Amino acid sequence: MTDDADAADAGDPAGDASTATDAPSEVDHESEIPEDHPRYQSLLTRHRIEHGVDIGITSKQGLIAEGRGEAFDYLLGEATLPSADAAARAAAAHLLLADHPVLSVNGNVAALVPGEIVELAAATGADIEVNLFNRTDERMRAIADHLREHGAGEVKGLKADGRIPGLSHERAKVDADGIGDADVVVVPLEDGDRAEALGAMGKTEIVIDLNPMSRSAQVAAVPIVDNILRAVPNVTRHAEELADASEAELRDVVDSFDREAALEEAERAIRNGDLD
Ligand code: ATP
Repeated sequence: MTDDADAADAGDPAGDASTATDAPSEVDHESEIPEDHPRYQSLLTRHRIEHGVDIGITSKQGLIAEGRGEAFDYLLGEATLPSADAAARAAAAHLLLADHPVLSVNGNVAALVPGEIVELAAATGADIEVNLFNRTDERMRAIADHLREHGAGEVKGLKADGRIPGLSHERAKVDADGIGDADVVVVPLEDGDRAEALGAMGKTEIVIDLNPMSRSAQVAAVPIVDNILRAVPNVTRHAEELADASEAELRDVVDSFDREAALEEAERAIRNGDLD
């Protein structure tokens, strides 16, 4: 475990002293994390992110981004709000209606939900594209390999022959026949600048972000304010349920989702959170 994570464990206000010390300090494999630990999901997340850094798919910045997310999840009681579930269903309907849906994967997403992203792509016919804020060829390749090890077929993002207008060179790179051509994009844990620029290209954006006040969530057509660990499998489950729905039924799911109400419910839950 990293020094940072150790420090965070020591300050865990939810656990009493005995639960905090019961948490394994060094975990080689996630199966060693006790599932009945009250902070199981948080420990699992930390382990996956730390492992992602070790194998070169997650940047050190990703550790910090995860910390910010965890704080919001803590205040949400690490549970999916009804409005986040409605957002996941609307996301599934958007993906099923799309001509060319693409799931954007960065280092945190690859570390946390590689197999779940592959399952979502299969359930919705979406492409998978690696898209990094801190882009290096080495990390791009490592993430693509990691996704293939988890069952992905083609992984886009390595050609980088398209650009997102309005962003500086490295941050603008996408595949012309991937995100460049997509009508619906899922951008989990995305930087606000890029989320805004993608929206300005006219794409329907589905954002997964635990912070309802982040710019990414604010600009999304569908903001899913939930932990990516819960949100991605939830969108897949809704997509499987909606697989035989008519176009009219899918449009109805999309039209009945209220993004403002979902953002407000999430912010209210965080501000008024009951930490019992
Ligand atoms: P913005 O620029 O959009 O205002 P930001 O600068 O906070 O946002 P980053 O720090 O680049 O964005 O991205 C981290 C975001 O990802 C944070 O909003 C954080 O809440 C969210 N996040 C981190 N871990 C998770 C997770 N496991 N599930 C969902 N969201 C997460």
